[in-house]
Amino acid sequence: MKVPDTCQLRAEDMNELFAKLEQKYVIYAPVRIRGGGRYAKQDSILYKPVHRYEEIEYSERSTYPMKEVLTPITQTLFYFTEDEYRESKMREKKDILVFGRACDINSIKIQDQIYLKNGDIEDYFYKRIRDKVKFAVMECANEFDGCFCCSMGTNTTDMYSIAVSFGENINNVEVKDEEFKQYFRNYKLSDYKIKFPAENKLKVKFPVIEDLDMANKIKNHPMWDEFEDRCIGCGSCTTACSTCTCFETTDIVYTQNANVGERRRTCSSCMLENFDKVAGGSSFRKKVSERYRYKILHKVYGYNARFKDGPMCVGCGRCSARCPELISYPATLNKLYDAVEEIKKQGGVKDV
Ligand code: SF4
Ligand code: SF4
Repeated sequence: MKVPDTCQLRAEDMNELFAKLEQKYVIYAPVRIRGGGRYAKQDSILYKPVHRYEEIEYSERSTYPMKEVLTPITQTLFYFTEDEYRESKMREKKDILVFGRACDINSIKIQDQIYLKNGDIEDYFYKRIRDKVKFAVMECANEFDGCFCCSMGTNTTDMYSIAVSFGENINNVEVKDEEFKQYFRNYKLSDYKIKFPAENKLKVKFPVIEDLDMANKIKNHPMWDEFEDRCIGCGSCTTACSTCTCFETTDIVYTQNANVGERRRTCSSCMLENFDKVAGGSSFRKKVSERYRYKILHKVYGYNARFKDGPMCVGCGRCSARCPELISYPATLNKLYDAVEEIKKQGGVKDV
């Protein structure tokens, strides 16, 4: 019997499907945490393991991104004694299926570049979990405030095993991965094909900085000055960012024996004071406006200069949504676009 490529599943079918999938996979998806938000009575939406499809919060953007499944806020890499070490155990014994949107899945491509293709050595601890992960893309039925995936070209993806459109009673599923077809043998056929967003209300003029010469000129533009007063350097934007990967490593030694301990990797941020502090106490970006400029130029120029892979941003809008100072990243990009154009018009020379 030919296995259908697309199916319609009722709620009970979905939960039966989840039960079957859970034999092989831990299923992660955005889940609403009631009262878990930053302010009183505010919820948060985080990627968590789910067992039933009703647990998935698909009508709002998650507060924190998909990267937390692969790189938790803090994780122990290994334990050590005086003369040996032992690798930490993987949190998940099974393979992992993650439900997310096209922009979220595209953000993992950027994470892959940074952890796996940044030089000759792959990041071992990223790779050991990444090799276990497959994706289920969720159709965006409505767009969220501040999304601009269409401006970034991250509104579509082909990196998924199944695609799902959630409905009140009927859920449509497209099955792309041969390995998944076995789970769908008994469901009703449909002609569903995932629809990706074609346009966002918010449009961003993404600046293109072609070379180091232009990057150096834009560094000196006065547009960065306003952020010295506005940005408090809290790092919320980068923690919530789908594509940021800064972390710090810390050796924790146990109080009763300082030769025994564990090495942890913890999410950090280029926006934090002292993030770039070096031996001798010097720091490269003392002013918060310099750190903000660094963050933006890394996303717009530095990442692409290294990987030739486009911007380090998928237009998910989480950075602006999390900023307590209401600093808009898309507005910064538009200002930067205008500044780059201004410099180009002046023949590439701008000494300010
Ligand atoms: S910079 Fe902002 S919009 Fe871009 S990926 Fe990060 S959080 Fe999303
Ligand atoms: S831009 Fe906003 S979220 Fe990011 S460090 Fe500055 S104040 Fe914090």
